[in-house]
Amino acid sequence: MAGAVHAWRDRLSGHFIGGEWVPGGNGRSYPNRSPWSGEVLGEVAAGDAEDAERAIAAAHEAFGGWARALPAERQMIFLRAADVVEGRRDEILAALAAETGCGRHFGAVQVGFTLNLLRQAAQLAYRPAGELLPSDIEGTRAMAVRRPVGVTGAIAPWNASLTLAGRAIVGPLALGNTVVLKPSEESPYTGGALWAEIFQEAGLPAGALNVVTHAPGEANGVGDAMLVSPLVKRINFTGSTATGRRLAEKAGRHLKRVVLQLSGQNPLIVAADADLDYAVDAAVYGAFVHQGQVCMCARRVYVERPLAGAFMERFAARAAALPTGDPSDPATVVGPVINEWALALLDRRVKEAIGLGARVLAGGEPVPPCYPATVLTDVPDDAEIAQSETFGPVVVVEVVDSAEQAVARANRSDLGLAASIITGDSARGLRLAARLEAGIVHVNDQPVNDEPQMPFGGLKDSGWGRFGLGFAAEEFCELQWITVRDDARSFPF
Ligand code: ADP
Repeated sequence: MAGAVHAWRDRLSGHFIGGEWVPGGNGRSYPNRSPWSGEVLGEVAAGDAEDAERAIAAAHEAFGGWARALPAERQMIFLRAADVVEGRRDEILAALAAETGCGRHFGAVQVGFTLNLLRQAAQLAYRPAGELLPSDIEGTRAMAVRRPVGVTGAIAPWNASLTLAGRAIVGPLALGNTVVLKPSEESPYTGGALWAEIFQEAGLPAGALNVVTHAPGEANGVGDAMLVSPLVKRINFTGSTATGRRLAEKAGRHLKRVVLQLSGQNPLIVAADADLDYAVDAAVYGAFVHQGQVCMCARRVYVERPLAGAFMERFAARAAALPTGDPSDPATVVGPVINEWALALLDRRVKEAIGLGARVLAGGEPVPPCYPATVLTDVPDDAEIAQSETFGPVVVVEVVDSAEQAVARANRSDLGLAASIITGDSARGLRLAARLEAGIVHVNDQPVNDEPQMPFGGLKDSGWGRFGLGFAAEEFCELQWITVRDDARSFPF
């Protein structure tokens, strides 16, 4: 562990631009602290717009060469990157725990997803580059040709730092684009510099991937430079709805296309015919995996009345018994939340709900730097926790007369990312899924699932566009309509 931490100290003090680790132009830095121990893991370059502009210029310069690289060359880089991740697995798990408080289980989920992502992305190099289209103009041959767009900006969050930065860069790169990655200030290593190391070792040409870090509260500088630059053709963003909305407003001014993966307020619906033990297991995992800091986590559990009493009793008992503490201990389920601000927000929103009449079935008091798995019921609709995404291990349980009523309640939210339904009748589950206003619905599973090939994304205020390698070409390529004639055609005048 200590060795891994030392290995990153030097890396973090600079940006990765044009294939080199370079100091920030302004010479400033900030300490990257472990959310569990408070230890300073390294000093991070506090970059600004000028650093971002250098990175954009490097990405622009690298674009032509990378876009023209032969498919076999591109493919090998992603396969080698997967081997690098595989070879560094333990070190990466330790870094995720130290930097983001990510426990063993969710760390392994992130590494597993990343390996699949890289290996599947290797195939994108051989994806057909377009289609021949029938034309009603005699002698005209028409085609739709897919081309990489150029420089892509990637803005990633800290919560699943490895995978969310990974999906923000791997699809665009594999399709022949170059990338400037801006990691979160909370995960400059595992969501930023580590990716530069992986691709550097895999042999990605200089400038194809660039990473620029910044200090807390200073995302604007780097973000705005990407929005404003005419060289940046697309931006993908994963984070909160509030930040995504501001970004989209600015992007509109520059007519820049953005992919937005935003907040969730995800329902898990338990029908009365569900297997009780399975429903409880699913809800415990879906609500508390990675201490509830996944955008897909179940935030609201609706239970049909006949099962409600038994469900609540078992669910609360399981939540109260979850091992809480050091994320590097493999037995821990609920590790620290990301920072003091997040802990204070959880505390404030839970206390506000209690003040408005909510009952606490488990947890409910912070144990710094952790917040224990917490189950609330009787939460009124006007409580903040009922309205906004609250990133942490707090879930609200509500009794409903029917799953159909739960769907109607869930659809009242402005957010529509993920949902799930547990029922003994999977045909009913499918009917309910069709009525849920969510980009992702799982029947007889909990809502936290992702695979690199799936169309991941939300409806309503949960975002626009889809990640997922089968769908990345829609977001990160230009489609050009080309026609060609061998003979002259006749014109009416
Ligand atoms: P979270 O609460 O998950 O951290 P945020 O939306 O605050 O969600 O952050 C997600 C990402 O957006 C992070 O990389 C963060 O640095 C970045 N970010 C925050 N504010 C801005 C901004 N004004 N412009 C560009 N990126 C931003």
